[in-house]
Amino acid sequence: MRALIIFFMIASVMVSPAIAQDNASNAILSLIDAADIPPDVTPVFVCDDFTLVKKTEIDEYEIESQEVLPDIKGDYYVMRILDREKLDQLKDRLPYILIGEHAIFRTDPAGAEILPNYGWGLTRISLTARKIRERPIYPPVIDVNYDPDIAGMIAEITPWSCESTLVEITSFATRYSYTSECRQAEDTVYHEFNDLPLTPSYFDFSWSGSDMRNVIGELPGTVAPESVIIICGHLDCVSEVPYNYAPGAEDNGSGTVSVLEAARVLSQYQPELTLRFITFSGEEQGLIGSDEYADSMQTAGENIMAVINLDMVAYRGTYANDMHILSDSLSHWLGSLAAEVMDLYTDVDTVTAYEDEPRSGSDHYSFAIRGYPAVFFIDAWHGPDWYPYYHTTADTIGNLDMNLLASVTRTGAAMAAILARLDFEANPDPIPTLSEWGMLIMALVLLLAGTIGVIRRRRPVRARSYN
Ligand SMILES: [Zn+2]
Repeated sequence: MRALIIFFMIASVMVSPAIAQDNASNAILSLIDAADIPPDVTPVFVCDDFTLVKKTEIDEYEIESQEVLPDIKGDYYVMRILDREKLDQLKDRLPYILIGEHAIFRTDPAGAEILPNYGWGLTRISLTARKIRERPIYPPVIDVNYDPDIAGMIAEITPWSCESTLVEITSFATRYSYTSECRQAEDTVYHEFNDLPLTPSYFDFSWSGSDMRNVIGELPGTVAPESVIIICGHLDCVSEVPYNYAPGAEDNGSGTVSVLEAARVLSQYQPELTLRFITFSGEEQGLIGSDEYADSMQTAGENIMAVINLDMVAYRGTYANDMHILSDSLSHWLGSLAAEVMDLYTDVDTVTAYEDEPRSGSDHYSFAIRGYPAVFFIDAWHGPDWYPYYHTTADTIGNLDMNLLASVTRTGAAMAAILARLDFEANPDPIPTLSEWGMLIMALVLLLAGTIGVIRRRRPVRARSYN
């Protein structure tokens, strides 16, 4: 017995430096120009202003960079600046680094709790993202024409059905991720899925000592069940007094309604590809729930073909009846599908942003940074029509437009229906498989042999004519 204890003592001493080293190698983030990233490197954070890459990768690939976060312990968070003066109030409590429109913090989950009141789009920098996709998904050829079947399907989504679902979702005193009321809201979503012809499940994860759950409703595909289309939004919310009262009607009761309403309508049909309806928790803590989920999907090698994320989609604002649709270089095809579907089936104007790098700020980012095509619906990008009750106790149904919510929900549902019957594999794929390589080489040899033959045969003819 004593020998065993001594063995474990020695083993633990030997193991602990390895843990410390691993911690060190995982952190220390450097700033780099997105254009300079070698193809094998996965950045831990990308945005329009800057890119962060782990120190280990900087060293391994000898990339020119600038070290911005030299500390090795704690979590890193990035947040967009909403109001510079407000952010300045934080300075003494929580130091940060400013880069472009972003502030970067190093803190723990408890320290991060105040951040949603000082900026927007809080994102915890995920150190697990890595490139596992050997090849990107090539967009299928989509012929979007008005389809009476789809129109019939989504006609069941009405301003009234959306409103009653939103009333249910906002009936909890709070849906702050660390509260038991948020667990009750998760149960409600689970039961909603369970009442439909869907397979409900929880995706459990733990954050800062709290157990949280994403809720999933799955409708298996009849033709290619291994290919998955996700429609999602976060269920949790926040306010100035998040443990006591946080209605979160717009952020993100609205997107949750879209997911539940799409599930209600689409579950009456049998899609060819698998449809997965998901509500995430832990979004306001820095996209924790979606990061955990996307990480597990990546580890499992899941075939996620497209992600439709809806977050803040029911505020009409004062300027126009419009909806912003954001996509990155992997999902431009999905962004244009979203805009076309919205034009065909609703009276809402679309504002599309086709960007190179994914923008953080909501759960689509957790998928996008891992190479999954993801599109993001939001009613106003930060600017003149920005929701004035963002992250406050005044985020209630009375501020919202149920016609707009029904329109964006119909768009999301129609997109999911269209995507779930596409044959992704039928699309010409520029990267051949191993056996295709074999055939290609053989074809090249044959072609070469044939060409030489042709040249040989033709030479005397040419020679004669020149003479
Ligand atoms: Zn949100």
